[in-house]
Amino acid sequence: MSVFKNTSYWKWAVLAFVLSGAAVFCYFSGILLPFFRPEARAQVTPPERIIDTGAVVWVQETYDICEKFGLPCGEPRTLTGRERLILNGKLEEDARTLYSEADGWRIDWGSERVLFSRAQTGLCPYHGSMWHLEALDGEDVVAIYVGPREVGQSGGVLAKTDIRVSRLPADLQDRVRTGSLVFTDYDEMVGVLDSLSE
Ligand SMILES: [Zn+2]
Repeated sequence: MSVFKNTSYWKWAVLAFVLSGAAVFCYFSGILLPFFRPEARAQVTPPERIIDTGAVVWVQETYDICEKFGLPCGEPRTLTGRERLILNGKLEEDARTLYSEADGWRIDWGSERVLFSRAQTGLCPYHGSMWHLEALDGEDVVAIYVGPREVGQSGGVLAKTDIRVSRLPADLQDRVRTGSLVFTDYDEMVGVLDSLSE
């Protein structure tokens, strides 16, 4: 004769089983669940980055053609004056309104120092507003190339002239062939070209 012959034992047994199952579930879920909740994972809140008054701020802009030819223009410069003052007390998101990600700026935070940098293509504004004369590639014609002599024809041709290299005096032919006629003043260059074409 079974002890469970009376159905009330069954009910108690099932109830006890369910309750103990629930207790075990609650116990383990209480221990384990926090590990599965995203908010319970170890959170490392980055420190709020702010540009202190005493921080040194650098700006570095590099240009691929200038870099390729080793021109000394891609060094970081220390911000001074108004450019520097307006950054005081700015959070990263505020600084981003001036040095945006969309414009290619990255920000490197150090202890009491901040570097804004970006890499661009072409020549920097300084070297991009220089010109030199060279013989047009493969032709006996003087052409104006953008950039200093060091970059050769990489800065692109600005204009082709009708001046024949072979008809210039020997010393000027040499200077054109070596690209050593360099100008930072456009009008001066036009004046020289006028004199060469006479
Ligand atoms: Zn440059």
